[in-house]
Amino acid sequence: MNRRYFGLTSLLMTSKKNMKINQSRLLQNIDRYAQIGKKGAIGVERISLSEEDRIARDLLKQQMYEAGLEVYIDKMGNMIGIRKGKKDAKPVAFGSHLDSVYSGGRYDGALGVLAALEIIHTLNDHGIVTDKPLALVNFTNEEGVRFAPDMMGSHVYAHPEMLQEIYASRAYDYYDLTVEKGLENIGYKGEMEPGAIKFDSFLEIHIEQGPVLESENRDIGIVEMVQGIYWSRYVIEGQANHAGTTPISYRKDAGYAASQVVQFVGDYSRKPHNHVLATVGSLAFEPNTINIVPNKATFTLDLRSTEYDTLKGAQKEIDSFIKGLVKSQGLQFTKEEMVRFAPVHFPVEMTNAVQNAAVKSQLTYKRMPSGAGHDAQMMASVCPSTMIFIPSVNGISHNVEEYSKDQDVANGAQVLFDAVLGRAVC
Ligand SMILES: [Zn+2]
Repeated sequence: MNRRYFGLTSLLMTSKKNMKINQSRLLQNIDRYAQIGKKGAIGVERISLSEEDRIARDLLKQQMYEAGLEVYIDKMGNMIGIRKGKKDAKPVAFGSHLDSVYSGGRYDGALGVLAALEIIHTLNDHGIVTDKPLALVNFTNEEGVRFAPDMMGSHVYAHPEMLQEIYASRAYDYYDLTVEKGLENIGYKGEMEPGAIKFDSFLEIHIEQGPVLESENRDIGIVEMVQGIYWSRYVIEGQANHAGTTPISYRKDAGYAASQVVQFVGDYSRKPHNHVLATVGSLAFEPNTINIVPNKATFTLDLRSTEYDTLKGAQKEIDSFIKGLVKSQGLQFTKEEMVRFAPVHFPVEMTNAVQNAAVKSQLTYKRMPSGAGHDAQMMASVCPSTMIFIPSVNGISHNVEEYSKDQDVANGAQVLFDAVLGRAVC
């Protein structure tokens, strides 16, 4: 090898080591998708399986083809774009979701998909072929606002045996519409079995949706775990009666009992040693009239904790309080378990890969839990996974005002790029 050739090679090697994602291309693309279902000045309303969802998916499909990816749609509507590697290995996967909540923001979900696309574009720019293949993923219905449960696409990807049950899930606002019909309507009920492509690993970049990174002035959140979530719905039943003629000792007041539960749950979560977030977020009385003792109170309970035993313990204590309460007041209650997700801990090999990528770009970081549920927690049961958080201005999300600074978006995408490359080049 002559000197000149060697010099050129080492120059190329250095530039490849310091490849940068294209910030303006990424931001332009985020803005382009934010026009699909635009809400307010910068917000988005792109409900899963809606016409807006279809338009966004069609654009992604087109962009994936243009970027040279092989595109697969599975029976759950999950979209996977494969970029071939030098080796016949499992692909390193990364992505998130394109659906939003009602009156949502432009970053929640879309950032993860579009940063993933930017990684493909950057590799294409530099003509890099990774050793392992890569997989860009857009999961169906992460938000679960119209069809339960949330994290639907990734859940089925990890548990394909759930497909038929999930297909039968109905829209909250339109009984005749099932998930299966919704997928057919928008043309995204694919052929591939969910989970047919096994991943080497999964990485998801997402906005923090909380105030921690901004208030502590850190660039990047390295997500070590996702809190466990228990959702339950309770109905306490008593007897409707006249508010003027029924003496207190004769009342079976479902509203009074429910309000005692609200008090108990609030007190419980305010004791720091309980290490649990507990919320009664909805409460409805029947008949809900000024002069009638309520015969029925329906309320929900949202419990979250980073520790599985704590979560189970809190659920048990609250249930036994409710049991004792309704018994002492001659009432009855029923409970429906809606969601049961145990806390998920991401492996150190993955969180360290993100940390190394952050250090490489001289970014400040914080190792932290995620308070919200994400697709990565579902993928964690089938392959090593983790998440990259970027700061949310004022901690606001699930709101049209949701905003993350351009530099933070670019930092996060760069960390994703380097973490993916670290995993895919061996
Ligand atoms: Zn999200």
